[in-house]
Amino acid sequence: MSKATKYLPSAKEQLFLDSVTNGKYDRQIITGLKKFIEGKVPEDMLSFYSADELKVLTDLKGTEKDVEARMPVKMTRHYFDLAKNSASIQVLVKASPKETYDLDGASDPGKQMDYSPVEGLIHKYEMGLLYVASTCSAHCRFCYREELIARKEVERPDGTMAPKGLAQIGEIVDYVKQHNSVVAENGGRHPDTGREKLREVLLSGGDPMVLSNKNIAAWLSALATAGVENIRIGTKELGFYPDRFDDTFFDMMDKFHETYPGVNVRIMIHFNHPDEFLQKDADGNYMNDPEGGLLWVASTKRAIRKIRSRHWLNIDNQAPIIRGINNDPDALRIQQRELKRNGVENHYYFCGRDIVGHKAFNVPIEEAWHILNESQKGLSGVETHARLSITHYKGKTEVVAVTNDPLPGVPGGEHGLVIMKLLRGAADAPDRGKVAILGRNPEAIWFSGYDDRVLYDEAGLFAEVATQNLLLQNVVGAI
Ligand code: SF4
Repeated sequence: MSKATKYLPSAKEQLFLDSVTNGKYDRQIITGLKKFIEGKVPEDMLSFYSADELKVLTDLKGTEKDVEARMPVKMTRHYFDLAKNSASIQVLVKASPKETYDLDGASDPGKQMDYSPVEGLIHKYEMGLLYVASTCSAHCRFCYREELIARKEVERPDGTMAPKGLAQIGEIVDYVKQHNSVVAENGGRHPDTGREKLREVLLSGGDPMVLSNKNIAAWLSALATAGVENIRIGTKELGFYPDRFDDTFFDMMDKFHETYPGVNVRIMIHFNHPDEFLQKDADGNYMNDPEGGLLWVASTKRAIRKIRSRHWLNIDNQAPIIRGINNDPDALRIQQRELKRNGVENHYYFCGRDIVGHKAFNVPIEEAWHILNESQKGLSGVETHARLSITHYKGKTEVVAVTNDPLPGVPGGEHGLVIMKLLRGAADAPDRGKVAILGRNPEAIWFSGYDDRVLYDEAGLFAEVATQNLLLQNVVGAI
């Protein structure tokens, strides 16, 4: 890894940075199982794990089935207070031996390292993704960035092994400027990749909201100076610690907007389940808000209102559908309705990725489609903007439809069909909109589950499957 060049902010950036103040936060984070095992957590948290659960997890310590080696345990007081009244979201933060029963999975899901021209940057689509933090306020057990958060070594395209590093401002700014100038000289597209100008960048990790305001401000102003027009902040902090969205944060954001009025900021939030933002009564039921809708957790609602009151800030929710947490159409229906009511766009629901240990979390693809489809029955059009997405090596893909009736005479179509559509191609933007039609496999949790039943593959999602051509010859005329 090359040593990062020291980035020197311009006078305009420096003026903005000098105006930023950091907030003070008391997340009351519990890190590691050891504190639970030794009884060194606050009294009301002592029963979060039973003695039997702790015994099983302790026995796995130091073995290849060690759950903490796969993903460190971490939880905030705010999330604990929500989770103690919710079996669903307990699963999100509570370590379970099931996570390591089957460690099958990819160490670098989506082969991200193939799209990393600079350490800490994934430039797979027209948007760039930056790893700017390697932790979050709490850790989701299903996290598909577990390799970054647990500091595991991943294989690089050159065959070497090393942990994923974080992005450095100087290197990223140089890359963005260089890429965009090549694109401009070449009439709007990069001559090698066909990609357009890098105009949108996602600050990710980990969670950028664990960084200080000054640190976030440094990224925002450097990216704006480099010519980035839209900056996304990917965060689950509204679930883990909504008070992070305090006056000092909004003061920093307002000053950023005054300095760079042309740059749009998109807060990409991550709610899996309405138990993460709605209040419950003593019987565990959601409560009606006298003003309409359901009663929210006050600090979460306050943060969303402050975001929504700024026209240059967008807020979108995206989340995976995870077994035991939100594979529940009723919960997702309430979530989509309440988010939209409060000005949060429902962007994507995701099929889980093929991370190490994914079998403990992933819902089969067709079941996930069914859950989302059921959840959207009875919602209005504007409440049902979310699509089900699964991330192929080739690009972001929508699971468009799953049919129920057999298609007579179509081998592989005995139980119906699955239709997928490429939303964003990594290497080739013009592939957008192309589809793949597959025979159903209700057990499939990843693309490989369809390798033997590809009926039509305009999108090239199964291009590497040897049997594809044979099937195509046999059946394409029949559909
Ligand atoms: S908030 Fe996101 S990055 Fe952090 S642990 Fe959860 S899924 Fe992973």
